[in-house]
Amino acid sequence: MKCFENRLKQLNVKVVYNCKVTEIIKNEKKNNFLVKTLNINFEADKVIIATGGKSYPGTGSNGDGYDLAKNLGHTVTKIKPSLVPLEIYEKDVCKECQGLSLKNATIKIVDNSKNKLIYEDFGEMLFTHFGISGPMVLSGSAHLVRYKNIEELLKNKKITSIIDFKPALSIEKLDLRIRRDFEELKNKKFKNSLEKLLPNKLIPEIIKLSKINPEKQVNSITKEERQNLVNIIKNFKLTIKDFRPIEEAIITSGGISTKEIDPKTMESKIVKGLYFAGEIIDVDAYTGGFNLQIAYSTGYAAGK
Ligand SMILES: Cc1cc2nc3c(=O)[nH]c(=O)nc-3n(C[C@H](O)[C@H](O)[C@H](O)COP(=O)(O)OP(=O)(O)OC[C@H]3O[C@@H](n4cnc5c(N)ncnc54)[C@H](O)[C@@H]3O)c2cc1C
Repeated sequence: MKCFENRLKQLNVKVVYNCKVTEIIKNEKKNNFLVKTLNINFEADKVIIATGGKSYPGTGSNGDGYDLAKNLGHTVTKIKPSLVPLEIYEKDVCKECQGLSLKNATIKIVDNSKNKLIYEDFGEMLFTHFGISGPMVLSGSAHLVRYKNIEELLKNKKITSIIDFKPALSIEKLDLRIRRDFEELKNKKFKNSLEKLLPNKLIPEIIKLSKINPEKQVNSITKEERQNLVNIIKNFKLTIKDFRPIEEAIITSGGISTKEIDPKTMESKIVKGLYFAGEIIDVDAYTGGFNLQIAYSTGYAAGK
């Protein structure tokens, strides 16, 4: 951010800190704007509203800009959290696995009411006290936010995430691997046989789901039991309950309707001399710099 500060200095731009804008009024007679703040008022020929979204209010963006724009006649589309962790119904799993971070897993998010795959990804994820988070999950949430009737589907427990803890191994190869492990550990109890295969935090949950007696000797586990174990490791199901609140979202989905903004100049089609830039606009994207790029590009166009 130093580069922006340096450029502002070079161009002698006056920056007024700790100065909350409370209202922007268009003065049609003077053809300018009165910008009211908690401290002082400004008059300006042109105004750019770049107050960000509603997510992560600790960074200053608490949704103020939506009201400023609404008062000037603009439409704000529905504001929702995006790139946001997901809550799950299975509370016990959260408790058991909290803090577990996976580097090479795959996730599928499925609408069970239509047997439809909504999202699939490979990468990193994290178990938390409320559910799941991490890059893959955040990206998945961006797809869920846009999914038709999502609130209803979540309420009716129709959205499932299916995690594959061993995506590099096919079902056959994982079965072979477990058979080899069991052969090596044949006199051990089942509860002590998965340490080489799975992270410690996950083992109690997998054992529970497998319905194999944890005290059972590994060499007496049946083929069906083993195949069921493989299936659980490759298709670990969690029912998604909700999005975490907007305060925890990386980005806000929704904002000033793009229909009301000239995309070349970012000028309002409703109020001449008024411009928008950044997350306040109803545009959002994946992580990976795309949202920052939206802010920079729209800021550049509006500034010009
Ligand atoms: C934790 C986190 C990680 C992120 N990681 C990425 C990433 O990896 N890649 C990516 O592309 N994006 C990422 N983002 C999103 C990205 O940071 C935002 O999309 C981008 O900063 C939006 O820029 P903006 O200028 O529109 O708004 P903001 O950066 O939110 O700036 C808005 C400014 O307006 C000020 N303001 C608000 N209301 C008023 C008011 N009434 N009066 C005066 N000032 C006001 C605020 O104080 C703030 O300084 C991340 C966001 C978060 C929270």
